[in-house]
Amino acid sequence: MGAVTPSRSLVRRASCAALAVGLAACSGPGAPADAPEPRVLEEPAPDADGVLRVLVYHDMEGLTGQSDPNTFRFAHPDRYAWGREALTGDVNAVVAGLLEGGADEVHIVDGHGSGSPDPDLLLDGLDARARLVTRDEPFDAYVDLVEPGVYDAIAVVGMHAKTGSRGFASHTYTLGIDFVLNDMAVTETELVGYSWGRVGVPVIFASGDDRLAADLTGTMPWIEFVTVKTATSASTADPRPVAEARADLVAGAREAMREWRAARAMRLTEPVRATLRAVPPADLSVLAAVPGIAYADQRVTFDAVDFRAAYDGLVGLVAVARGGYASVMAEVGRSLGGAGFGVAYSDALFGRWLDFESGRWSPPELTPPPPRIHHGFR
Ligand SMILES: [Zn+2]
Repeated sequence: MGAVTPSRSLVRRASCAALAVGLAACSGPGAPADAPEPRVLEEPAPDADGVLRVLVYHDMEGLTGQSDPNTFRFAHPDRYAWGREALTGDVNAVVAGLLEGGADEVHIVDGHGSGSPDPDLLLDGLDARARLVTRDEPFDAYVDLVEPGVYDAIAVVGMHAKTGSRGFASHTYTLGIDFVLNDMAVTETELVGYSWGRVGVPVIFASGDDRLAADLTGTMPWIEFVTVKTATSASTADPRPVAEARADLVAGAREAMREWRAARAMRLTEPVRATLRAVPPADLSVLAAVPGIAYADQRVTFDAVDFRAAYDGLVGLVAVARGGYASVMAEVGRSLGGAGFGVAYSDALFGRWLDFESGRWSPPELTPPPPRIHHGFR
């Protein structure tokens, strides 16, 4: 536990000693003299309504006591049930700390996407003083909740390191994806920070493994960070004793709330240069030969007017990169279906083509799904 200290920071364009004393944008030694600063740091927007309201994002890979990747996957009911208990315990610890530290209201939103149509949190077990954010329509928790004057601070719990950091379940957005904004590869925690920074709201607290702590050291040194485990690979970890780590979650959240005005809202310099980088199982090479697309070495880069446009563009490219997942599906198909899988798949593709071309088949009408409550990522 404890704030991530700038002294541990790796040199990045965005890190500098000015973080400790003020708000001016700053650049590391690696920045060319004439390059625009990648971001600016600002004091939090003043509380608009006299109610200190905090939004908590939960993920599910950085939980206390957790060392099994199946615990954050709805596809594995037994292990997922364990994960829900751990998640609820961690969220409750953070809620308690935030309230002790002076928060008036705490709201929770699902930033995970386990595949379950229902919330990952056990709502019966959730601290009754907190409530889950829900909407009647689907929404993207990273960007669609952002508006000025509602929340004063953001906390994130159960988070993971970014793609390439070799943390427990480290990734960014989804499998095999790396988001780069103004030349900075970002974690999901930073993604939340840049999204809320647009309206002057800082991220004040985070929990996760030691690799995430390292990821954030240079870029968000004001965060009160609780390290709940040490990653030993992307699929294994040495968790701290749960009671000890949970006590730190309470204390860290309390301290973060007491000092929330010392945190910094982060805003990307515009226009935003965005790069999507793919690693296995994702793949962007299909775009290599397309004129007008800036592709090189599994990376596609574009300029966007602001954070939201950059985010939307990246998410669009994620859909392309996920085409790479098909090679894994083909491997599974071959192993499950033997030689017959290839023929069956080929026949189905040809059948779809010939039926459509003959006018015998058309895509099903898009009927609106039955109304349901949406709680963030599925
Ligand atoms: Zn995540």
